[in-house]
Amino acid sequence: MTGVFEVREYDGMGRRGELTVPRADTTVETPALMPVVNPHVQTLDPATIESRFGAEMLITNSYIIQGSEDLREPALEQGVHDMLEFSGVIATDSGSFQLAEYGDIDVSTREILAFQQAIGSDIGTPVDVPTPPDVARERAAEERATTQRRLDLAAGLDTGEMLLNAPVQGSTHLDLREQAGREAGETGLDIAPVGAVVPLLTEYRFADVVDVVLATKRGLGAEMPVHLFGAGHPMMFALGAATGCDLFDSAAYALYARDDRYLTVRGTEQLTDLSYLPCECPICTDHTAAELRGTDAEHREHLLARHNLAVSFGELRRVRQAIRRGNLFELLESRARGHPAVLDGYRALLRHDDQLAATDPVSKDSFLYLSGDSADRPEVSRHHDRLARLDAPADLLVTAGSAADRFDACWRLRPPFGPVPPALVDAYPLTGETPDRLDSRAYERAADGVSRLAAANPDSDITLFHEGWPDTALDIVPDGVTVSVLGERSR
Ligand SMILES: [Zn+2]
Repeated sequence: MTGVFEVREYDGMGRRGELTVPRADTTVETPALMPVVNPHVQTLDPATIESRFGAEMLITNSYIIQGSEDLREPALEQGVHDMLEFSGVIATDSGSFQLAEYGDIDVSTREILAFQQAIGSDIGTPVDVPTPPDVARERAAEERATTQRRLDLAAGLDTGEMLLNAPVQGSTHLDLREQAGREAGETGLDIAPVGAVVPLLTEYRFADVVDVVLATKRGLGAEMPVHLFGAGHPMMFALGAATGCDLFDSAAYALYARDDRYLTVRGTEQLTDLSYLPCECPICTDHTAAELRGTDAEHREHLLARHNLAVSFGELRRVRQAIRRGNLFELLESRARGHPAVLDGYRALLRHDDQLAATDPVSKDSFLYLSGDSADRPEVSRHHDRLARLDAPADLLVTAGSAADRFDACWRLRPPFGPVPPALVDAYPLTGETPDRLDSRAYERAADGVSRLAAANPDSDITLFHEGWPDTALDIVPDGVTVSVLGERSR
């Protein structure tokens, strides 16, 4: 099946979209979060997850259901929706996770897909081979080829209206991820989970996660929805969405609750370390930290799971809202200030200027400069590309201060963008808000803009009046440009 996913709007590579799931007779808004439901151990029951948290999708494991005496028959007889009491979209995993954990499983792709179809799964998954990070290239290539054969097999099977996942593997070898993305896209399957990133996530290697996702997306193209498989911590939803991921799944809400771990958008807290509950959810407004600690273990796990899921869905809504308003970069930048691993991931993302700029809208509501990293956003590079195409007047003053009569023309100087011609002063992103106390990166990027303009206009006399730029920025300004500090004589 193809054509089940439609992107409604972009912000950078982040996107809001609609995933149509024919078997569930519904359309789900993305980015979406699928709570993971262990069919044996339901920390929160799926009906509560649906009614209290608004979950439209969940994911459960068909391999566990098939292998379990007390679940297999009910699932086949009632269907997985009635068995779990969940009316939304149910995606099923295939046992690949068990394959990665225990080294062997006794089921084939053909068999598990037939079982997933028989129990009424809305989104099925072939048995892929999850290759861990950092393995030798030969192994990664071999296992990736095995996964691809199974995707090709799945694409040839009649699975009715059930959508199919096409997991993308390749370990940390980016060319293999790109190839896997390309070949997964060519199968005609529906959703591309980026597989085996859990070890990277648990080690907080978010920059590597970003590189793996972006490599996958270079192969996949824009049409396929992307599931960041195993990414359930709300601290990285903004980063995941900004890399163009559409689906997240959370086992974390329940697993962390079991160990008295309390999720926040800035990281994880141990309940024992909390004097206060820094959250507005019903659990945290109805209880103090001491009360939660004093609750018996089973009830405490339940309450913490509810908090953890509330925080996760809250952040997901924040991400959707940010994409709609065009301020996903601002949200991500504030998350990057909450944890160094997210900052690393954000900086890794900003290095992929071309990929980011390809879908970033030309106009948005506002551009807020929040740190030196804001200077590396694609809006700044896009302005520089525009400067390289502009005809500069023969005798031009670019100034941070007021115009001077002895020049033919005067353009504004606005760090981090650089020279701004009069026609653009009121256009996005040049209307962006910057602090009065800028860092050197803003001036360096403005100097990049001056260089691009000067290089494109070798016959123009350009004079720059700046407001005390650091040497790191002045070193970038080409020799042909006359430079003065505002209020001083030319150098
Ligand atoms: Zn809470």
